[in-house]
Formats: sequence, C-alpha cells, structure tokens
Amino acid sequence: MDITLVMGDITMQEVDAVVNAANSSLMGGAGVDGAIHERGGPAILEECRRLRDTRYAEGLPTGQAVATTAGLLPATWVIHTVGPVHSREEDRSELLASCYRESLKVADELGVHVVAFPAISTGLFGWPMDDAARIALGAVSAAETSVREARFVLFGAPAYAVFTDALMKFPRKS
Ligand code: ADP
Repeated sequence: MDITLVMGDITMQEVDAVVNAANSSLMGGAGVDGAIHERGGPAILEECRRLRDTRYAEGLPTGQAVATTAGLLPATWVIHTVGPVHSREEDRSELLASCYRESLKVADELGVHVVAFPAISTGLFGWPMDDAARIALGAVSAAETSVREARFVLFGAPAYAVFTDALMKFPRKS
C-alpha cells in the first residue's frame, strides 16, 4: 500500500472514500465534520440520521466506522469514524489506531482502493500531532487491506511537517 501525504482540504479530494472525524452522534460538528457536511450537502446527514435511528441508536462507538454517501463531494463515499478524546491519564492510542483499521475495513467492504484520512482526534479532541501521526502511520501500514493508497490530508503546513517527519522515521515494510 502507498501512504501519501498532502497538504489541503479533505473535502476537495477526488478519492473513493474520505474519512470523517465524526462524533458519536453522527449529527455533524466542527472541524472536518463540519466541512464535510457543509460541502457534501444534506444527503450525508440524512443517511447519518437513518443510521442513528437504526444501527446506532446509542451513537457510533469510539474506534468504529461506518460509510454513507459522499453527497456533493468529489469522493464517492464518506467513512465516518469516531476518534478518542486525548487523555493524559489514560492511554487511548489503541482506540485511535482502531479508527484507521476499522475505516480501512469499511473501505474493503465497499471494494474501494483510494482512501483519504484527516489527522483524526488532533483538532477538538486534543491529540498531540506527533503522537497521532505515529499511531496513524503505524495502524495504516500494519493493516491487512486491499486499499492501495492511504492519503493523509493535512490541514496546513505544521501538520504536514509533523506527518512528513513521522513518515521518514517510520520503519516501512517494502
Ligand atoms: P477531532 O474532533 O477528531 O479532533 P477535528 O475535525 O476537530 O477532529 O480535527 C481533526 C484534524 O483535522 C485537525 O488537525 C484539523 O486541523 C484538521 N482539519 C480541519 N478541517 C479540515 C479539512 N477541511 N480537511 C482536512 N483536515 C481538516
């Protein structure tokens, strides 16, 4: 699998699936979530609402993932996943890794090959970017998946620099 890094806005990515850093209500929010719903239009929220009324009455659990249409976005699907809020008391890195693994699993179920990820949990959920980058790259590169490109879409130069550095240090399988 190719792991690629781009600086930009995830809502502009022409990929099979974009991953949304959602919250468990699936009802939208700020950051990536807000941008995806704003650009993607009401069809996404409509499907999210249906999922909440059926499979996820208690909300989408942290670390899990589910797909909807991408509405008006240039992608085909949105894969919603709920990142863990960062904690200094408790190690939640396994839950953050799970977001990436479960998103790739959903991509495999959809039969798609190019998936764009934001830096999950590094916004409102407070995860330090360097730690989040290490966990994200570790989870994606270790995953057994048919996805051919995992594209990290970093929002601004600082995030892009941190991911570039983490990827350089990363022991890659050839
Ligand atoms: P979380 O609640 O999981 O922390 P956020 O959406 O608040 O999610 O932020 C996750 C990361 O995505 C942050 O690093 C933020 O700067 C970045 N981000 C915000 N908007 C976009 C966007 N349109 N495209 C890509 N990344 C974005």
